[in-house]
Parts: sequence; structure tokens; C-alpha cells
Amino acid sequence: ITRKYDAQIAFYNKAIGNRLNEEQQIAAEMRSALQNGEFVVYYQPQYDLKTGTLIGAESLVRWQHPTRGFLPPDTFIPLFEQNGFITQLDIFVWKTVCRQMREWIDQGHRYVPVSINISRVDIYNPHLPEIIMDILNQQKLAPECIHLEITETAYTDNPKQLIATVEKLKAYGLHIDMDDFGSGYSSLNMLSEVPVDTLKLDMRFLQNTQKSSRGGNILFFIMNLAKWLEVSVIAEGIETEAQMLYLGSLGCDYGQGYYFAKPMPYADFQNLLCSQLDR
Ligand code: C2E
Ligand code: CA
Ligand code: CA
Ligand code: CA
Repeated sequence: ITRKYDAQIAFYNKAIGNRLNEEQQIAAEMRSALQNGEFVVYYQPQYDLKTGTLIGAESLVRWQHPTRGFLPPDTFIPLFEQNGFITQLDIFVWKTVCRQMREWIDQGHRYVPVSINISRVDIYNPHLPEIIMDILNQQKLAPECIHLEITETAYTDNPKQLIATVEKLKAYGLHIDMDDFGSGYSSLNMLSEVPVDTLKLDMRFLQNTQKSSRGGNILFFIMNLAKWLEVSVIAEGIETEAQMLYLGSLGCDYGQGYYFAKPMPYADFQNLLCSQLDR
């Protein structure tokens, strides 16, 4: 009788479905989800704005949940950053990217570097540089094969430690993209202290240029600043041809966005690589 009663309570709790309960359920499911292969890596291509050639791709994780359906990362990454599971998930993504790249190279195809996202939690893991180098070494890949995207907003948590880690990663020959550039509160401080290779312009910049002429002036300033500092710029969230042409006219080097392609499953990305590189 008690068991039946417990089951009814459990059912009742589930029916309430409050947010906390939902988060607890997701947290309980994540480990088995990783083992069951429910997390999949999508790829979004990146292009040279001047020549239109494919120059890279960003890896973006998705959760193919058996009952909840296809979950975008914004629904689970913040939770995983809170409970620490993000470290395991990110290592899974990095390993998947490197394994797929090794298989691809072994098949004799040409490839482009793939950007991996480093969570704000991972960047403060003192073993991060060695973890990444181990994964590359396991697949016999050179550091040039991947780019690391570090979000600008992580900088203010502990600037000293972040700078030291980025310097170590760069000493290993890894390329660093400053993700979400301009979304934080100390972009210029960050830029003067962290030796990044590429600024990844936050999507909001592009949206702001359409709202006011100041927005356009700021974008112009950033492009020139980047030139003086000898860092390249990639704009994300390019959705129209007009935006692409506008950024190109300001001297923006690279771009990524729905105008070119949405993030896609690996099989589609393989076809894209073949059609654009193996010619
Ligand atoms: P992000 O790193 O800033 O990634 C860019 C997001 O913009 C992606 O959303 C992408 O699908 C979306 N996007 C690309 N082009 C366009 C466009 O033209 N228009 C619009 N409106 N959006 C565009 P997504 O895939 O949902 O990822 C959201 C965020 O989740 C990412 O933001 C990143 O912070 C995080 N994330 C995704 N995958 C991973 C991962 O493997 N590890 C970690 N730590 N975080 C991840
Ligand atoms: Ca990113
Ligand atoms: Ca971004
Ligand atoms: Ca973002």
C-alpha cells in the first residue's frame, strides 16, 4: 500500500511540474543522457567575408531528449554550469569534435579548424590546458586544428587567473577567440590584458547598428581597434546579405550566421566540407 501511495505522490509531484522540480529532473537525467548518446554536436560554418570561402566552423551542442524532444543549449547549459556537469559535457564535445576530425582526415579529406566553446567554469579549471592537449594528442591533431572560444563575460570573475590560463594555452599553440566580445562591462580592459587572436563580435552589435548611427560608429571603431591590435574579427549572427556586405565594408574579416547556414548535424557538415573544399 505504501509503495502505491509513494508512486501516487511521485506522479502528483510530476504533475505539478514546477520549475525547481523540472531542473532536478534534468539534473538527474544528464548523466544517463551522456551515456546514452543523447548529446549531439552540431556545426555552424564560418566564412571569409572578402572571398566567400569556408574558413572554419563552430561546434554547438544539442540534447536529443527521448521525451522532451530537441533541446537547445540555452535550456540546459546554465543549469549544468551551476551544478558542475558542464565540465563533463564540454569534454565530451571536445572529444567528439577531435575524433570526427581525425576520422575525416584519415579518409583523405580537406578540413577547416573547428571552434569549441569553453564554459566560464572550464576556464577556471587549472588543468584545462593539459586536458585539451591530451585530447588533441590522443587523436594526433595539431593545435591549429581547433580554436577555443572563451566568453568575454568570464574575464571579470578572476582576471589574473584567466590571463595566466590564456597565456598557457597560447604557449601550446592554441588559437583563442574572445566570444561575445562587447557584451561584458570591461571589454577594453579585457582586450588590453588577454592576448586573444580573434574577437568574436557579439550579435547585439549588428542589431544595434540598425537602431542608431552611433551603433555603426562603434562598430567602425572596433574594426579599426582590432586592426591596430592585429587581432582578427569574426561577426556572428549575420542574417542578411546587407549585414554581410556592411560588415565587409567596415573591414570585418570573417562571419557566421543564418545568412550562410544554420548549425547543422555532422553528416550535413561533411557534405558541405566536400562540396566547398574537395574541389
Ligand atoms: P554562442 O557561443 O554565442 O553561440 C552562438 C549562438 O547563436 C548559437 O546558438 C547559434 O546557433 C546562434 N546563431 C548562429 N547564427 C545565428 C544567426 O544568424 N541569428 C541568430 N539569431 N542566432 C544565430 P545555440 O547553438 O543555441 O547556442 C547558444 C549558446 O549555448 C552558445 O552561445 C554558447 O554560449 C552555449 N553553447 C552551445 N554549445 C556549447 C558547448 O558545447 N559548450 C558550452 N560550454 N557552451 C555551449
Ligand atoms: Ca561560441
Ligand atoms: Ca557568441
Ligand atoms: Ca552567446
